[in-house]
This record gives sequence, structure tokens and C-alpha cells, in this order.
Amino acid sequence: MIMANNLKRQYDLHADEYEKKVLDILRSGWYVLGPEVDSFEKEWADYIGSDYCVGLASGLDALWISFRLLDIKKGDEVIVCSNAYIACVMGITINGATPVFVEPDKYDNMDADKIEEVVTEKTKAILAVHLYGQTCDMTKIMSVAKKYNLRVVEDCAQSHGNHWNGQTAGTFGDVGCFSFYPSKGCGAFGDAGCIVTNDPELARKFKVFRNYGSEKRYYNQMVGCNSRLDELQAGLLRIKMRYLDNFNKERCKIAEKYRNEIVNPLIQLPKVRPGADSSWHQFVIHCSKRDELKTYLEERGICTLIHYPIPPHLAEAYRCLGKKKGDFPIAEKNAAEVLSLPMYNGMTEEEQTMVIEAINSFGR
Ligand SMILES: *Cc1c(COP(=O)(O)O)cnc(C)c1O
Repeated sequence: MIMANNLKRQYDLHADEYEKKVLDILRSGWYVLGPEVDSFEKEWADYIGSDYCVGLASGLDALWISFRLLDIKKGDEVIVCSNAYIACVMGITINGATPVFVEPDKYDNMDADKIEEVVTEKTKAILAVHLYGQTCDMTKIMSVAKKYNLRVVEDCAQSHGNHWNGQTAGTFGDVGCFSFYPSKGCGAFGDAGCIVTNDPELARKFKVFRNYGSEKRYYNQMVGCNSRLDELQAGLLRIKMRYLDNFNKERCKIAEKYRNEIVNPLIQLPKVRPGADSSWHQFVIHCSKRDELKTYLEERGICTLIHYPIPPHLAEAYRCLGKKKGDFPIAEKNAAEVLSLPMYNGMTEEEQTMVIEAINSFGR
């Protein structure tokens, strides 16, 4: 059976290093916010090309704390793509702010040409979600943001080490948010996240906020939260990140094979926006007979995933937004047509060929 993702394969590539690191940390007697977190923050900031990185407990925390510290609250609007992951929308609404959806373009990312149409007096920020391992058009997004004086938060959960015209994702806006959930590009062995920023005061606030609002123990300056990164995750991420460029390259090779060899008139292959480099966090095809295709592949031992079957405006959780079917037809069409093919580090050529042959035989 071919899994949609297979984390064990990636683990096995450098198992000795991870295992040694875990023992070292267990034996160190220091487990949360310590030397491993400090080093990881420096190394990740360097890797991304930002001045500061602050480790957090998850990607969702990175998002909602960003909006909180940028003072985005009830009555404010934040622009986000209509095919976003639900966590993107929660990052906005946890603070009481209202998400305003913009449809995706043919690259499955926010259509930057449609942002201006939805800007109002209440608009405070744009959340640029770099979906599936490809950056949005950051040139256009930054120029709209500048024109209307909007904050820009980047959700880089799916685009670790991706670039827009050579510049790393996460370095364009006020804050870049990362999730290190195990399935992400640089995946931890549990939950973890971080933000990057070039603003020293904002970085300081994140450090205070993540630890109950205190810089000095038991002296609390603000009502914060507990979103601390632990030493085990930070230590393991320090190892993982050294291999991230190789992992991304390996997925590019798999994607190249898929793009060259999948030929089926029922299937549209993913498109890469000129100026963006994809790390193929997901390899997402479109097929109008998606559900049939998914079953067909399953019958042949090939598992696939759908990112995502329900667009946020139709999620039960967001009935309160008062949106209905038909409000965002492109996102709704995508939700019915997208399919993520198996894609993971350590995937063999034989496995890739099996996927390609199964897809090419569908409907014939
Ligand atoms: C995974 C993900 C998140 C949330 O990250 P968690 O670490 O699971 O909280 C947010 N946005 C996007 C685009 C994601 O893929």
C-alpha cells in the first residue's frame, strides 16, 4: 500500500541523529525554553533571512498571536483566500476579527488582483497563505498593502524555505508564521511553531506573550498565554532543518516525474506561478471526477488526501459568518476537485511509477 504521506521513511534517513539528540536532551534536565530553543531560533531566523525568530507551540498560535500583537480585533477585517486551511481563519476569528475571503487563482493561491475589490475602511490586514508549497504573488500583495496601509501576515506553514523572486517566504510581511506539525516541510515530532519578523519590539512582545506575559519570572506585564516551545522539539528541529533543502529538492524530483509522466485528459496538473519555486508540500491535481478517482486509486492500494473538502465559509464552525453555498464558487469547485497525490521523502521510484500508471489508466 502506498500512503499519502509516510513520515517513517523520512525519520529512517537520519534516525541515529534524532535518537542521540533526544537522549542528550532527556539527560540535560532542562525541558522547556532552554538552550536548544535559543539555538533553534537563531538558526531558523538565519535560514529564513529574518532578524528574529520566536519559537511557539503551534502554527495556529503563531497566527492568532500575530493578529493579537498587531492589535487586530473585533470590528476589524482581515483578507484571506477562500480556499485557506481552517486554521488560517481561526487565527483571525480567535481575536474577534472578521475574515474577508478572496478567491484563489489558477495557482490555487489568493488572486492578488481581486484584493482591492474587498478593501473597506475596516480592513486592517492581509493574511497571505502560501498554500501547497508555493508562494502567493507577494509583489502584488505588498503593493496593495502599502497603498491601503495594511499589515501583512504570511502563513508559511506549507512553504518552508520557498521563495518569491528569490526572496524567502515569511520575510515580506510584518510577521511570517510557521507550523512544524510533523507533516510539514520541516516537521517536528509533535506540535511546534514559530514566527519570524524584522521588528525587534514585536519579537520581544512575542517572547513575553508566549510565557504568560512575563519577561522576568512572576512579573507579568500583560495577559499572555502558554505557547512555549520545548527543548525536545527545538533540538530535533535543529537537525531536521539541516536537511530541509535536500528534502525540498527530493520532492521537486518526484513532482517533476509526476508532471512529466501523468497524462490523462481527465486530470489537470498543478501549475507553478512564474517567480515562485514550489517545494511541493502537496502535489495537488484537479479532476472533475475526483471522488471516483480517489476510490479508483484506493482500490489499487494508493491513498490520497483532500486539501480541503470543505472551504472555511461553508464549515459548520463558521455558520456565524452567514455565508452560503455559491458565495465563493472557485473555492467550492476546488473543494470538489482537488486531490493530493502521495508525496513524501523517501518515496521510491517504483512507488511513484505505480501512482502514475494507476492515474493514467483511470477512465480508459
Ligand atoms: C498546518 C497549518 C496551520 C496550522 O498549524 P498547526 O501547527 O497545526 O497549528 C496553519 N496554516 C496552514 C496553511 C497549515 O497548513
